[in-house]
Amino acid sequence: MPPVLFHSTNGRSPAVNLREALLIGQAPDCGLYFPKVFPQLAPDEIRGFANLPYHEIAFRVLSRYTEGILSDDVLAGLCRDAYTFDVPLEKAFDRVYLMRLDRGPTASFKDFAAQMMGRLIGRFIREDGRQLTILTATSGDTGSAVAHAFHNLPGIRVIVLFPEAEISKRQRKLMTVLAGNVTAVAIDGKFDDCQAMVKRAFADPALGSIPLSSANSINIGRLLPQSVYYFYAASRVARPGEPMVFSVPSGNFGDMMGAVVARRMGLPIRKLIASVNDNDAFPRLLNTGVYQKVVPSRNSISNAMNVGHPSNLARLLSVYGGHMDETGRIHVQPDLEALRRDVFSSSVSDAQTREAFLEFYDKYQLLLEPHGAVAWQGLKDWMQTESLDGLPAVLLETADPAKFPELIEQAFGWSPDAPPAMAALDDEPEHYERMGTDYEAFRNFLIAQHA
Ligand SMILES: *Cc1c(COP(=O)(O)O)cnc(C)c1O
Repeated sequence: MPPVLFHSTNGRSPAVNLREALLIGQAPDCGLYFPKVFPQLAPDEIRGFANLPYHEIAFRVLSRYTEGILSDDVLAGLCRDAYTFDVPLEKAFDRVYLMRLDRGPTASFKDFAAQMMGRLIGRFIREDGRQLTILTATSGDTGSAVAHAFHNLPGIRVIVLFPEAEISKRQRKLMTVLAGNVTAVAIDGKFDDCQAMVKRAFADPALGSIPLSSANSINIGRLLPQSVYYFYAASRVARPGEPMVFSVPSGNFGDMMGAVVARRMGLPIRKLIASVNDNDAFPRLLNTGVYQKVVPSRNSISNAMNVGHPSNLARLLSVYGGHMDETGRIHVQPDLEALRRDVFSSSVSDAQTREAFLEFYDKYQLLLEPHGAVAWQGLKDWMQTESLDGLPAVLLETADPAKFPELIEQAFGWSPDAPPAMAALDDEPEHYERMGTDYEAFRNFLIAQHA
């Protein structure tokens, strides 16, 4: 098999293999890397996943992308090492399940991708004898998942910017107790300020000698590992070859693109539900064919999904023959009919999110947090339009309820226990820098860090 090639969604950069796509991040023409042709898993092979542990399924799926780049032995070892945590599937009713993707080191689904991406990038850097600085702005979950994944990898330095007043103490601690090669920087500003500073740094010629890379979800390394848990869910709850329904709480659409990848590789998916909060650019596009970013993005209680222009839509539309550039302009319309056949999307308000959260607990005794509650409402919205026909459906719960305890505290008057990994941090000393939003000061700080 020739290695899988990744093409830029903007079509003006040469195609590259996985190794280069991982290390470059965003294509030089500002597009996103994505395969045009996907490796296929035969139905028999998918059937065989039923008896395999998670890390082995991860190996079977990801090895299709690493041929010629990484030996199977090495990849199998990385998968074993990355995926040591549980992936519970809890039954709600009939054949509707909740998949908890919150058992990783930072208690959000972002660990699934970050843990693998860290190991792959760490390996490639070491082979090349190179140095790399991962620079990331975070509103919470990305920064901690990335910092943990790259912590103490030789040759790699991590700098995470976070808005000091906008994240919880527990979220902050997940980044500030690591030290070593991880530098956390509290910015006296908003998430948008952090992101603007990082973007400027990437484009700053004065920093040209510092090898910077990003670990946000424009990197294909954040996407491929997210296809694995869809195969895993099917192997546990579907009959061989039986199509499924997934409801995915979506912000930047990296998580739901994992399902698109799985489907392209051969996993039968009847409907993929992208559930969003008040940031409704995608459901509007689906309904009207017109794309309008939400500017500025709207705040909501499912705050990890407060994304006004989901960058992964460029990838989604490319699968349906469309072309959206990095600014959100559509140059070629996708096949909307085909897209609607495969994907459903609804926008869920905060009030609906609260109700869905309460209902799920009352009816099924399963505790959600706001992002998972959006997924539940999205599934219900779809079931108003089509019947599940007895097929299995899986809701993705993307964080531990203890990470977003407000809903629970308001509704029940008690706080959920922190998962052990997070509770252990409570007494650890924190190390972090503090900075304003002045770019010159930030640039000098970066230069001093690399002196
Ligand atoms: C990042 C995040 C999301 C959104 O995932 P996308 O891939 O950006 O769509 C949902 N829930 C939680 C808890 C997250 O941290």
